[in-house]
Amino acid sequence: MSRIRASIVGSLPKPSWLAEPEKLRGAWRLPPELLAEGTDDAVKLWADEQERASLDVITDGEQRRRHYIWGFIESLMKVDFDQLGLRKSRGQRYVQQTPAPRVLGEMQWSGPVLIEGLRFLKSRTNRPVKITLPGPMTVADSIIDEIGGRSDAEFAMAYAKLLNKEVRALSEAGADVIQIDEPCFNIYLDEVAEWGMEALELAFAGVTAKRAVHICYGYGVPQVLAWKSANKDWNQYHHTLPLLAKSTIDQVSVECTASGINLEVLELLKGKEVMVGVIDVGTEDIETPDTVAKRIEAALKFVPPEHMIACTDCGLVPRSRHAAVGKMHALAQGAALVSGSLKR
Ligand code: ZN
Repeated sequence: MSRIRASIVGSLPKPSWLAEPEKLRGAWRLPPELLAEGTDDAVKLWADEQERASLDVITDGEQRRRHYIWGFIESLMKVDFDQLGLRKSRGQRYVQQTPAPRVLGEMQWSGPVLIEGLRFLKSRTNRPVKITLPGPMTVADSIIDEIGGRSDAEFAMAYAKLLNKEVRALSEAGADVIQIDEPCFNIYLDEVAEWGMEALELAFAGVTAKRAVHICYGYGVPQVLAWKSANKDWNQYHHTLPLLAKSTIDQVSVECTASGINLEVLELLKGKEVMVGVIDVGTEDIETPDTVAKRIEAALKFVPPEHMIACTDCGLVPRSRHAAVGKMHALAQGAALVSGSLKR
């Protein structure tokens, strides 16, 4: 059997000297003049820890941004993060209104945003590296467009065109995997078919790096966990995965552990690599390698081993450092148990 690979979705907790820990948008604790040095050190720390855990693909843990959407979009457009507005977001699944930054100026791409960060990460590891970026539908759902006069679809297409320039630049600079995060693909099912897939393909046009998309049911934070425990309809992937199966996307990240999905749905991704979520990111409890191995084995009924990448359900940013480190090691060890390179 092929060896089972392992990697994380993307984000990791910020060290408490860098930002308020265990928060999605924790404020920086370093003054602006020390932030670059601090984020470099945090990236080193997490790259080393991922290597120590023997993960196959290394990320920067999203240490350079306060939030997975904030921290990138302001480089493409004038955005006000100080005077947040309120909007309905994520189909009001988790909360009625969400604080959202206001877009005040037209978008433009004036050169690579994340390329220095990519070069730094590559200088710290010889393993393949992955860069993660917020997807067009999810960005459109997360901002207040004060320019106005355009639909979410039009905003998303305009953003996707600029995102494509960034993705191409990162691919040319040696990013091995580029992942676009689209949690909204599990919410706006009609829109995914109408324009979401088109925007995603536009973002990846002409890109030679591995093309990945992460689709989950949200971070492991209290409002999301409350929704998950009450939710009865877990059919969303049945709508989106067949569209992805026909697309140019190479890898799809699916939340399998903390969601209530039937793993059979993974069969819809036949031919694609699947990042199978085998680590629950909504709890501080660290899985045993044996638990992880059992979850991988359950998914192996529907995904061939050569296409399987054992993964976290979502980002680990809201967890403690202790839990994140433990979960990464359990992830890699669980994959090693299944591959037969570790003894049970
Ligand atoms: Zn996620």
